Amino acid sequence: MESKKMTGPPKAVVVGGSIAGLSCAHALIAAGWQVTVIEKSGTAPSGSPTGAGLALDPQSMKIVDRWISNPDLLRDITLPLSIDLNQATDSAKKISWRLARDESCNLRAAHWADLHSIMYKALPPGIVLRGHQFLSFHISNDDNSVVTKSRIVQTNEIVEIVGDLLVAADGCLSTIRQHFLPDLKLRYSGHIAWRGVLDFSGEENSDTMVGIRRAYPELGHCLYFDLADRAHCVLFELPNRRLNWVWFHNWPEPENKRKSMTLKPSNDMTQKMFEEAEKVWVPELAKVMKETQQPFINVIYDADPLPKLFWDNVVLVGDAAHPVVPNGARSTNMSIQDAETLGLCLKKWGLENLATALQEFQTIRHPVITKQVLHSRLMGRLRQGLPLEDNTAFDPKAASADECKWLQYRNMPYVEHGAPTSI
Ligand SMILES: Cc1cc2nc3c(=O)[nH]c(=O)nc-3n(C[C@H](O)[C@H](O)[C@H](O)COP(=O)(O)OP(=O)(O)OC[C@H]3O[C@@H](n4cnc5c(N)ncnc54)[C@H](O)[C@@H]3O)c2cc1C
Repeated sequence: MESKKMTGPPKAVVVGGSIAGLSCAHALIAAGWQVTVIEKSGTAPSGSPTGAGLALDPQSMKIVDRWISNPDLLRDITLPLSIDLNQATDSAKKISWRLARDESCNLRAAHWADLHSIMYKALPPGIVLRGHQFLSFHISNDDNSVVTKSRIVQTNEIVEIVGDLLVAADGCLSTIRQHFLPDLKLRYSGHIAWRGVLDFSGEENSDTMVGIRRAYPELGHCLYFDLADRAHCVLFELPNRRLNWVWFHNWPEPENKRKSMTLKPSNDMTQKMFEEAEKVWVPELAKVMKETQQPFINVIYDADPLPKLFWDNVVLVGDAAHPVVPNGARSTNMSIQDAETLGLCLKKWGLENLATALQEFQTIRHPVITKQVLHSRLMGRLRQGLPLEDNTAFDPKAASADECKWLQYRNMPYVEHGAPTSI
């Protein structure tokens, strides 16, 4: 790429207005860039039934705090997850016992929609173009700018937006990534997840809530993992009287291969899931699942780490750059940290050295992403009792105390001291 002359602030077009896209908007604005975010969905996703709980690490908390410049906001929408507790469940006897406990976990729980909402509201108006479906891009003849084409969903009008940089934050199924890496295939994890959020407002003293708090007394500050036979369930509390649960099932790859990550189950499927929950989980947890409105299914994919993260003036971030299974609680954290690093590199090198900035971004992020994607995959396979590289499988009923320590979140590469954001 050639050196560029500065004429006004540099411009970035970000495709995707979810966590990675909004993070990039914050980080690039902080770096002095002018940003336009193109998002195909027309409405704020705050009421989206697909939203659920996620865990933020201290590094992401600090970064988001800085972007939204009001630390109270992020505190208000999160609860501590200071204990990481893995337990085994005996489905026949309906008893659980401790496998591994770490009291220095330092994560915080948020609802996806709450995090999205505070990040969106903290942006200057007019940055995010909702209801705009990105269609294609080309690099201008002088190689200096990217011309994007989008369709306004409501009117079908086609609009061109030109930038110095195109940031692909268009998620796990990224069409921009596909353009550069057409042979990259998503890899089915071998499991799906049933998940949901129980809203217990006004029901704090119900049998269900009294029961679940008795069975899981550290809800409100603990990340529970219950491991049964080739299945596990994550349970934690969210602010505003909500409980988040995710039940991972080993399952053949569903029919709609790699087209959507979320499935809306039929009533019949949901009913069968409730019946199965009563067989597998302790009754208090099965009851929470049964009382959850609109549980849904996530089909779990990841991809082997990408060979690179940028091509000329196009860069990938978030799930577009690293489809990852959710078993390591990294996806959202990686997206926030990608954006922070990208912003710092662009600020350091300026538009006139864009290629150097993107190279530095890749040098910093690629090793982190690679290790976290692969470790997340390992965590999923361990907890699901799926065959590991040496053809053994983790069995919670037979594992030694040392083997159980593998389950702990603290072993995730780069989380103990935070990932580097600059060289
Ligand atoms: C509605 C929703 C709810 C979620 N809930 C949770 C949750 O509860 N817990 C959790 O851990 N993770 C959740 N996630 C996923 C999580 O946000 C991401 O995995 C992670 O934060 C990485 O985000 P991302 O921005 O890279 O990708 P995504 O969140 O997948 O976002 C990609 C964005 O790109 C947009 N997009 C894609 N193609 C185009 C196009 N052609 N034109 C314009 N826009 C396009 C999509 O509409 C989407 O907003 C959710 C994602 C979504 C979209």
